Amino acid sequence: MAGKVAIVTGGSRGIGRTIVQTLAAEGAKVHFFYRSEADAAREVVDAVSAAGGQATAWMVDVTDSQACQQAVEQIADQSERIDVLVNNAGIVRDNLLAAMEDEEITSVLQTNLFSVFHVTRAVVPFMMSQRSGQIVNLSSVAATKGGRGQANYAASKGAVEAVTRALAVELAPRKIRVNAVAPGVIETAMSQQVRDLAGDEVKSRILLKRYGQPEEIAQAVTFLASDLASYITGQVLYVDGGFKMA
Ligand code: NDP
Repeated sequence: MAGKVAIVTGGSRGIGRTIVQTLAAEGAKVHFFYRSEADAAREVVDAVSAAGGQATAWMVDVTDSQACQQAVEQIADQSERIDVLVNNAGIVRDNLLAAMEDEEITSVLQTNLFSVFHVTRAVVPFMMSQRSGQIVNLSSVAATKGGRGQANYAASKGAVEAVTRALAVELAPRKIRVNAVAPGVIETAMSQQVRDLAGDEVKSRILLKRYGQPEEIAQAVTFLASDLASYITGQVLYVDGGFKMA
């Protein structure tokens, strides 16, 4: 990763934060987007810097296509290249379908799916002219398993997997690889409610009988973004302790 320039969306907390720190520890110059938590973003920049790495925080709402375009252009102007894109930003708004409000449907699709279009569309021209690039999208075990109250979320992640395969086909001639990582239940703020409500029941259905840690996702993302994965494209790597199989 030394000398590589990476963009990570949703890098201020949770899995995204750990991806930023892992890529930076491997030598990448990391630019990350966050929505609102400026203090959390500053903490990430400081933590990376204290570890001898480089990270820059950008307040960019990934649901805003113009803001994504402008930020990516500024990063490309400054850095003169973009090697890695990790589409990580995501939200949940769980509810049973009969009670699900329009906002709960649109906000999840806009944040989890439309963002992938917004940021990837802005980044791809730079990768195409370099004739190299690595894109890693964050899916979820919900894409294949579904989940009670998760019709909106499962739809967004199923679509992210479909976009991953379509872009792998489209961008392979320009030597751009596109893959996804699908986490199981990972210990972050996002999964807190699920873990609180259905803790032992969910854990008993995971083959490895434990939740995952953000580091375990960040390592998989870093692998797919690295030259170690130079012959892998169009794949979804499930990092879920065997939850999908159970
Ligand atoms: P968290 O809720 O811990 O963090 C979400 C991050 O996304 C924050 O940095 C947040 O920024 C950012 N974000 C949210 N909305 C926007 C937006 N509109 N624009 C810019 N940034 C935004 O989530 P996780 O770390 O747990 O999840 C990361 C990814 O992994 C998601 O795609 C999620 O769907 C996926 N995943 C997570 C699982 C889990 O168990 N945790 C399981 C399966 C998949 P801010 O703080 O500023 O709002």
